[in-house]
Amino acid sequence: SKSMGRGTFCIFTPEMDERLRERIALEADLRRAIAEEQFELAYQPIYHLASQQLCGFEALVRWQHPERGLVGPGDFIPLAEETRLIVEIGAWVLRRACRDAVQLPGSPRIAVNLSPVQLAYGDTVATVEEVLRETGLDPARLELEITETALFDEDNRTLAALRSLKALGVRIVLDDFGTGYSSLSHLRLAPLDKVKIDRSFVRDITARRDSASIVSAIAALAGELGMATTAEGIETLEQLEAVGRAGCTEAQGYLLGKPQPILRAASSTFFSKRL
Ligand code: C2E
Ligand code: CA
Ligand code: CA
Ligand code: CA
Repeated sequence: SKSMGRGTFCIFTPEMDERLRERIALEADLRRAIAEEQFELAYQPIYHLASQQLCGFEALVRWQHPERGLVGPGDFIPLAEETRLIVEIGAWVLRRACRDAVQLPGSPRIAVNLSPVQLAYGDTVATVEEVLRETGLDPARLELEITETALFDEDNRTLAALRSLKALGVRIVLDDFGTGYSSLSHLRLAPLDKVKIDRSFVRDITARRDSASIVSAIAALAGELGMATTAEGIETLEQLEAVGRAGCTEAQGYLLGKPQPILRAASSTFFSKRL
């Protein structure tokens, strides 16, 4: 670093060495996890607000590590993306989620997160097509959640992939909308069916007028463009009521149901319990 003077580069500190070792170990573990299928899916219920009906589930990956125990996606997805192992993990997630979905009564939708890396480098269209054929899942029941970072892909591979996915009959959802490098042009550019409004707006919706205005504006704009909206991260009844007033179509969050094993998620009864 600069403070060490010109021409002095410190490549390995014991600390960096340790971090690098840790990373290499984790990468090796991740490869083994793929081979041994150490992943599992938790499903979080999504409710339709107007009808108060359970309309689907979001599949969220977890890693059952043999020594570390349960590892959340935030602790391994970034490395999986860097190493592109996410392509294989993502294919496993998709297959598992579609297999689970066909077992469920009532034809709920199933939402699966797609990493920008899968869209840019993986043969995602072929994988989705194959999994749909293999499981017999109605494509209209499959929602693929992408983030806006995926739409910054310069050679347009991602956009082409999204159009091909749409052509298969699956639904495309823009996740975490309103954060990072958000742009309204994304709503026009990509073939989207739904927008998920980031939980940072939902968190403040009852305390801040501006957050409530932003949620209403996104919901209205999405509606005008023929898209539905899901409000994420609903933790209180007040937030649930506020996103309903703001015109959101669907809601998801700990209040309505936490991510849980498929069978428990399938018997979620938030509204019916309250009636
Ligand atoms: P996400 O797609 O935005 O998923 C929502 C995250 O918010 C989940 O965290 C969920 O457990 C959490 N959440 C849901 N409701 C609430 C709430 O009311 N309050 C709060 N505070 N949190 C709530 P999780 O499962 O740890 O996943 C984190 C992120 O990891 C996901 O964010 C997604 O970006 C990524 N991820 C998860 N599964 C997959 C996957 O299969 N593939 C890829 N590529 N990414 C995944
Ligand atoms: Ca998501
Ligand atoms: Ca999200
Ligand atoms: Ca996220």
